[in-house]
Amino acid sequence: MTKSDVQQKPSQKDWVSETLHDGVEISFRVDKVLYEQKTDEWHLELIENSFFGKVLMLDGITQVTTRDEFIYHEMMAHVPILSHGNAKEVLIIGGGDCGMAEEVLKHKSVSRLTQVEIDRSVVDFSKEHFANFNAPVFEDERFDLIIADGAQFVHETDRRFDVILIDSTDPVGPGAVLFTEEFYRGCHLCLKEGGVLVTQNGVTFMQRDELVSSISHFNKIFKEVSAYVACIPTYFGGHMALGWATDNDALNKIPVEVVKKRFEEANFTTQYYTPEVHIAAFALPKYILDAVKEGKS
Ligand code: SAM
Repeated sequence: MTKSDVQQKPSQKDWVSETLHDGVEISFRVDKVLYEQKTDEWHLELIENSFFGKVLMLDGITQVTTRDEFIYHEMMAHVPILSHGNAKEVLIIGGGDCGMAEEVLKHKSVSRLTQVEIDRSVVDFSKEHFANFNAPVFEDERFDLIIADGAQFVHETDRRFDVILIDSTDPVGPGAVLFTEEFYRGCHLCLKEGGVLVTQNGVTFMQRDELVSSISHFNKIFKEVSAYVACIPTYFGGHMALGWATDNDALNKIPVEVVKKRFEEANFTTQYYTPEVHIAAFALPKYILDAVKEGKS
């Protein structure tokens, strides 16, 4: 693990505030600072909060909490994989906490999961501190971790994937490139025929422009462009939009009976995802639908 400036001595704070939104601060009471470090890419902080459990922040932006990580990870992984129905090769870009990888690897149909993460420190750190949800990932031979910039990877690889998941930070710093048209063109090239790309596109109520912009990029590249939603308490402000881009227009219209059968066959348990929630997630609240329509116009 190479770090430009390592500081492992926890700083003393009573509350830590997320710095993502202008004019709004979301604060977690710090019951304990568990870890603090300057990695190659980030100022990484791990705190203990009595409600959310362990809270990971990168550059002051909340990434994951042990209390509600299951919502985001289940919805981002299972919806595209069960819509696809025969996903063997899956690619995650980002995803350093490895919660997404854990959900993807629950699918026995997946023969290889490639994860391209820019900062090895986040993975090493998460292996140690988030073992309660990511431990199975590191024992799974199908897990192929590559430390690289995801944007560079999609343009250079000759590998092709059935499902690509962009489990990125927000569009600031190293994560910004993962929201560009050029990057999405790279993802399109990396998809097998009939494959699907899913992106984290922020909380529309707070970050509407982010969704409009990604949708407008998708629209120049993919035949079927849409979004689906999940409500994740950690990501303040209502529904998070997950961008959906594919050349296969059947994938977001799979009947619930088919999804149910696939989920039964997959044979694992969830805490948020159900086949009914899967179908319902594509029914967008009007203000989110309007943002999607604007991106397509
Ligand atoms: N679920 C979280 C959220 O929405 O806030 C994001 C989880 S995960 C911690 C995000 C990961 O994306 C980080 O580990 C970060 O290092 C990685 N990342 C950011 N930019 C990247 C890039 N250009 N290529 C690959 N990984 C990147």
